[in-house]
Parts: sequence; C-alpha cells; structure tokens
Amino acid sequence: MDCIKDNIEDVLENIAKAADKVGRQKEDITLIAVSKTKPVQDIEAALACHVTDMGENKVQEIRQKYEVLGHNATWHMIGHLQTNKVKYIIDKVDLIHSVDSIKLAEKINVEAKKADKIIDILIQLNVADEETKFGIKTMELDDFIRQVSNMSQLRIRGLMTIAPYVEDPEENREIFREISQLAVDIKRKNIDNVNMDILSMGMTNDYMVAIEEGSTMVRVGTGIFGKRDYNKR
Ligand SMILES: *Cc1c(COP(=O)(O)O)cnc(C)c1O
Repeated sequence: MDCIKDNIEDVLENIAKAADKVGRQKEDITLIAVSKTKPVQDIEAALACHVTDMGENKVQEIRQKYEVLGHNATWHMIGHLQTNKVKYIIDKVDLIHSVDSIKLAEKINVEAKKADKIIDILIQLNVADEETKFGIKTMELDDFIRQVSNMSQLRIRGLMTIAPYVEDPEENREIFREISQLAVDIKRKNIDNVNMDILSMGMTNDYMVAIEEGSTMVRVGTGIFGKRDYNKR
C-alpha cells in the first residue's frame, strides 16, 4: 500500500515537472490510475492518496468494482467497448475514451437517451495503424466527427490514443504533437457538440512526453500499481 503512495507521489511529481517544462499548469492534467486487473483494495489505496480517477478496460470489471465503490471513484472506460455491453456502464462511467465506430456511438446515444443522460466521449484515434486494432484513422476523423456531432445525447470532448510501446518515449513525440494539432484544427471548425478540451494520451512509458505535447489526461497503470498479473485472475 505504501508503495502505491510512493508511486503516486513520483508520478505527480513527474507530471508537474513535464508541465512546468513547457509552461503548463499541473492542475490542467488529470491523472487516471489504470486499475485494470487490480483489486478493489488497490483502488482504495489510490483514493486514500487523493487520486480519484480510475481507468478500466473491461465492462465486467467496472461493474464489479462499481458495486463496491460506486461513485467514490470517477470511472473511465478506456478499453474497446462492445455495443451489447454499453447498457451496463452507461450510468457508471464519467467518460468513455474509446469510441471507435459509428455503430458504437449510435448505441451509446440510444442507451444515454433511455437513461436520460448526456454522455461525454472521446474519439479513439488509431495512429499506430499496425499496433492497435481499434480506433479511427486520421483520414476518417472529419467525417466521423460530423456524424457523431448530430447524436443528441453525446458530447465529444476530445481525442484519445494508444501510442505504440517504444523503448524511447521520444519516439512517440511526433504522434502526440500531431494529435494536439488535429484537436486545434477541429476546434477551429466550431462544430456544435464538439469540444476539444480533453486529450487522453500518455501511459506509464511516455506520459511525460505526452504532457509536453499537450495531453490533458494521462493513463498510468504500471507506474502506480506495479506490473499486472494476468494469470492470477
Ligand atoms: C492498460 C492501459 C493503460 C496503462 O498502461 P501502463 O503502461 O500500465 O501505464 C493505459 N491506457 C489503456 C487504454 C490501457 O489499456
């Protein structure tokens, strides 16, 4: 538990450092603790250290953890979301980072209407083409945004990406920079329902570089909770 505390202090310090380096405020960056595969006790330890935002990539896991913690934590859906499971998390998550198809957006819109809610979403961009299966191609983004902006219950808040795993995080700098620029270009178009105030980019390996390039949400798992053991589940 104490080790989580130390890790969180380190990460927060790094966030402040990276922000400072480029003249940004650390308060403008949200730390999302990626708690996937980790037990509720670990999340409670993070909450005790004032980290409020948790990232999960499986619907089943959000449901289980939500049952215990409810809105004591702020939940972020960061993994691929199947349309038939949207209904289980619509009332639990604050932000869906992983909207990657019109079909999914439409489903979220329908479920949101049923729940009488407005849902904040990010559009997941596929910048690494080969490396990740999911996400919208940069070329298709404009069209995608125009279609989703017409869905009454959805509010596009920004962009998300999973950059490739690289030895040297500098290798991802160009990707982060491109996405920041894309967000600026989109914002300039002043489309209804489209805000570009959130850029979800940067993970344990590269969050400092991402912050230097404009990230407003970093998703840190290993750097806070340690290695994930997928066998134990
Ligand atoms: C697992 C995961 C993370 C966290 O990865 P770490 O390298 O452990 O920080 C971030 N984003 C997404 C979408 C993930 O699935």
